[in-house]
Amino acid sequence: MIIRIGKAEDNDYVADDAYVSRYHARLGQDDNGALFIEDLNSTNGTFVNDNRIIKKKITSSDSVRLGSHYILNVREALKFDNDYSEEFAILKSVYNDYIKEKIRIQSSNQFKTRLFQSLPFAMTGVMGLVIAFFGRRSQGIFIISLLLAICAPTIGIYFGARQSAKIPELLQYLANKFKIDYVCPKCGAFLGEVPWESLANKKQCPATNCRAKWVRK
Ligand SMILES: [Zn+2]
Repeated sequence: MIIRIGKAEDNDYVADDAYVSRYHARLGQDDNGALFIEDLNSTNGTFVNDNRIIKKKITSSDSVRLGSHYILNVREALKFDNDYSEEFAILKSVYNDYIKEKIRIQSSNQFKTRLFQSLPFAMTGVMGLVIAFFGRRSQGIFIISLLLAICAPTIGIYFGARQSAKIPELLQYLANKFKIDYVCPKCGAFLGEVPWESLANKKQCPATNCRAKWVRK
């Protein structure tokens, strides 16, 4: 992969600036997939992090300058080779965060639902003891205990059900957000609930009119 950069219209990436040469530099990739920038004997030079270079390995976080002040956007330049690997790499955390959040919602739900549903049964047990101690002497306590024993599970099931009802809403919200964020950086197609590593193995977008490179090499 080679992207030629300069002021002339027939470059792959046209850098329109007074201090950029007609054919100023080229952005390429060595056999190991590492990016490099190479100066093409330009008049005003090529700079990486303010050091003038002839040829140098770079990453997308390096600042690349052509001439006195034209800053080359490496990510943008790479797109001329259909290279979206920088943007695709970010999707790894999008997927992992989604799965983590989904598990968190589901497990917190199970815990709360069980808690709400089991507490009243514990209460009923306590009531049984109360009845055993005082029931014979006071009919009032016996009736109250009996009512609680009948009502408590209903209340517990009610709160448990209410807790469960919130979950589809939360999961739906999470899924909607995921569908917006987990998309091909070029064509915007949703990538499905497919682990990032599996997609990375495919190397590029399967859409015929896209074919964005997801992985550089
Ligand atoms: Zn695509």
